[in-house]
Amino acid sequence: MLDKIKDFLGVDIKENKYKKADDTTFGKISNFKTPDEWVRSTCGYCGVGCGLYIGVKNGKPVYTKGDPAHPVSKGTLCPKGLTEHEMVTSDNRVTTPMIRKNGTLQAVEWEEAFRHTSDKFKAIQAQYGKQAIACISTGQFLTEDFYTLGKFVQLGLETNNYDGNTTLCMASAVMGYKQSLGSDGPPASYEDFSHADVILLIGANIADNHPILKLHSAKNKKITGKKPTIIVIDPRHSKTANMADIFVPLAPRSDLALINGLCYIIMEQGWEDERFIAERTSGYKTFRKHIMQNYP
Ligand code: SF4
Repeated sequence: MLDKIKDFLGVDIKENKYKKADDTTFGKISNFKTPDEWVRSTCGYCGVGCGLYIGVKNGKPVYTKGDPAHPVSKGTLCPKGLTEHEMVTSDNRVTTPMIRKNGTLQAVEWEEAFRHTSDKFKAIQAQYGKQAIACISTGQFLTEDFYTLGKFVQLGLETNNYDGNTTLCMASAVMGYKQSLGSDGPPASYEDFSHADVILLIGANIADNHPILKLHSAKNKKITGKKPTIIVIDPRHSKTANMADIFVPLAPRSDLALINGLCYIIMEQGWEDERFIAERTSGYKTFRKHIMQNYP
């Protein structure tokens, strides 16, 4: 009743909802979400794998905090990670199998879902042959998931029409890395962003898509004593472009011409590091000839 009167008079500051409480692990946190315990985990939404703690209250996740001891994310999380606990109890989360009946999706028991799916697969293969079904898997699977799905497709469905995001996405990146950099992974680390004099971002919107890299870039000045020069090359004026000292809004598909043009200027001015090139690259003479004949 008192709350209703305060609300009516416009003096309700929702103290119960917004007041802070002391937590032994994280200090001041929201009072109404103070958990019974913190469970240490890893965010699985993207490849950064930030460390986090999930606060559990009455058996339900109510809070997510970054793990300050995590070597990559150092206690920070992007908005996706910060709201990770909400997904578990979200109203629109699908928690049972669904089958569309008479145009409407309806919740069903697992037994019915398995039977329905199995009957459909069998009917397709009976009519069109075993090879009529193909499977493309997600890159979010763990090793055991891949193993089980592989067995199901080859031994259960009796087809070898199976590929995954791992091949379509990562394998091409690995080949690109190996051919251009000689190693199957990026030759840099997050920490390089904290120490670099110049950060060149081409087509990468780290402010939106990779906030942990932005965090490491933002720490740079504290560590080195001077702000790094940030160059953003992107057809779009992204959020990352707002951080740039130099923003290059190039036309779509002209990035290669820009990079080759930069190479031309470096070679023309004699700025290349000949020792580095001799020790770590191959085919430089051919590349140089191509650049000097075709650019700018
Ligand atoms: S950057 Fe965001 S989505 Fe990716 S692991 Fe970290 S918190 Fe999760």
